[in-house]
Amino acid sequence: MGTCLSRLCCPRSVDIPISSPPDSTPHQYRPIPIIAQEEPVQPPPPPFPKPLPSYKPPSTHSAPSSSQIGPILGKPCVDINAFYDLDKELGRGQFGITYLCTEKATGLKYACKSISRTKLATPKDIEDVRREISIMQHLSGQPNIVEFKGAYEDRRNLHLVMELCLGGELFDRLAAKGSYSEKEAARIGRQIVNVVHACHFMGVIHRDLKPENFLLVNRDDDSPLKATDFGLSVFIEEGKVYRDIVGSAYYVAPEILKRNYGKEADVWSAGVILYILLSGFPPFSAENDKAIFNEILVGRLDFQSSPWPSISSGAKDLVRKMLTMDPRKRITAAGALEHPWLKEGGEASDTPIDSVVQIRMKQFRAMNKLKKLALKVIAENLSEEEIKGLRQMFNNMDTDRSGTITYEELKTGLSRLGSKLSEEEIQELMEAADVDKNGTIDYIEFITATMHRHRLEKEDHLFKAFQHFDEDGSGFITRDELRHAMAKYGMGDEATIDEIINDVDIDKDGRINYEEFVTMMRKGTTDDHKQEIS
Ligand code: ADP
Repeated sequence: MGTCLSRLCCPRSVDIPISSPPDSTPHQYRPIPIIAQEEPVQPPPPPFPKPLPSYKPPSTHSAPSSSQIGPILGKPCVDINAFYDLDKELGRGQFGITYLCTEKATGLKYACKSISRTKLATPKDIEDVRREISIMQHLSGQPNIVEFKGAYEDRRNLHLVMELCLGGELFDRLAAKGSYSEKEAARIGRQIVNVVHACHFMGVIHRDLKPENFLLVNRDDDSPLKATDFGLSVFIEEGKVYRDIVGSAYYVAPEILKRNYGKEADVWSAGVILYILLSGFPPFSAENDKAIFNEILVGRLDFQSSPWPSISSGAKDLVRKMLTMDPRKRITAAGALEHPWLKEGGEASDTPIDSVVQIRMKQFRAMNKLKKLALKVIAENLSEEEIKGLRQMFNNMDTDRSGTITYEELKTGLSRLGSKLSEEEIQELMEAADVDKNGTIDYIEFITATMHRHRLEKEDHLFKAFQHFDEDGSGFITRDELRHAMAKYGMGDEATIDEIINDVDIDKDGRINYEEFVTMMRKGTTDDHKQEIS
C-alpha cells in the first residue's frame, strides 16, 4: 500500500502525553493533563458498578498469598511466580516493562506488564491505574481490544496480564511492507473505528488513540489489530463536560484543546490515523506541540499533496467527516462503520496507493544540495529506533545483501511497492538519492532520501546539522564553509554555492544564519509540501 509508514509520520518522541500538570510528581502514573486543570474536576460517581478492588484471582489459582494487603488493588499480595513463568522482555513503556509470560497451569502464553509500585506513589496514581484495570476488564472480550487476564500485586510490582500480541506495532508492519491498497487501509481503519465504537458502546472514552497503541496479534498478513493501552480512558458520565487536556499532539481533537469535549474526540483521533494510513503524513503537523495545536484549531485539510489526488473520493469523504471541526456534526463511530468506503465489502479498491517511499524520494529530488547534505548529517545521527521500518525496507530492496541498492534493485523494489514510475523517473530518483555519486544508494543515502521529514523538524537535529556546517561556530554558514562541506561530495563548485545562497539567504548578507537554515529545512515539510511533490 502506497502508504508506508515507518515511524514515518509518528515519531515516538513527538508523542507526548502532552505535558504534566504543574503539580505532577515524577512518579505520576499517567501524565494526564497537558495543561493544568484549571477547574477542579468533580470526583466522578462510580461510573461502572465494578469499583475496585474488583480483582479476583482466577478460580484455578489457589493464591499463595501473604497476609499483606496490597495498596493498589486492596487485595492480599499474590506471588505472580506461583502462577506464571515470566520470560523475556517484550518492550518497555513509560511506566512499566512488558514480559512474555506462560501460565503454569495451562502452558498458555500471555503478556505481563509489570509496573513498579514506586511509580504508583500518590493516591491519584493509584486511582488512575485502578481505573485502567477496571476499563480493561470492562472492555475485554470485544474484538480488536486486547483480552485482559488479571491483575496481580506483590510487594514490589503491579502485574497486568493480558493477551499476547506478537505481531508488533501496526506502523512498523506497514513500513516494512511498503505499499498497500485502499482496501487494506479500509480493513485497518475499520478495526480502529471498531475499537472506538466498542469503547463508546460500553460507555468509555478512549482519549489516547494513536498508532502506537495498536498491536498486531501475530505475524500473518491479515492479523487482527488490538488496542492495548487504556491508561487515559475514562467512563462516560452523562452530561459531564470533560476538561482535562489529554492525548498525543498529532491526534488530539480541537474540542479537547478548547477543554469541552466528549466521546466524539475519539472519532477525530481515528480520523487522524486514517489520514496517515492513506497518505503517510499527519494532517496537522508542525515543529512543536503548540504549533501542531494551532494547525488543529484551524483544521484545514490538505487533499492536494501527493498521494491525495489519486485517493478515492469515498476515502476522502470519510476522512473529512471524521475530521469535522464541530463535534456535533462529526460522523459517529457507528456512522463511520456504515460508510460505503469503510464498511466490510465496501467500495475501497485494490489499487495500490502511491508509495510513500516514492513520494519522499521525489520530494528529496526537489531539494537544494545543502538541504540534502544536511539531511544526510541528520540521518547519520538518528537512532535505530527512529528508522526501524526504513532499515527493514532497505534490506527488502537490497536483495543481494551487498549493503547498497543498485538501479535494478530500486526499480524492482519500487515496483513491488506499487510504483508506476518510468525508467527515466527511477533514474532521476536514483541520481537524487545517490548523494556521493558512486552509482549506488547506500544505507545512509536511502534513509536520507526516504526518512520522514518530520524528523527534521526536531530542534536538536537541526541545530546539530547547522553546527556541522558552521565549522568555526560563528553562527553563520559562510561561502567558504559551504564550499568546504560540499567539496567532500564533489559539489563545491561556485555555481552550486550561488544557487544555494540565492535560495536560502533571505536577508541577502551573503551567508546563512541559523534562522535561514531552519526555514530552508522546514520548507516543504509542513504547509507547503505540496509545492515540492510533483
Ligand atoms: P507505553 O507506556 O508506551 O504505553 P506499554 O508499556 O503499554 O507502553 O508497552 C510497551 C511495549 O511493550 C510495547 O511497545 C510492546 O512492544 C510491548 N507490549 C505491550 N503490550 C503488549 C502485548 N499485549 N503483547 C505484546 N507486547 C506488548
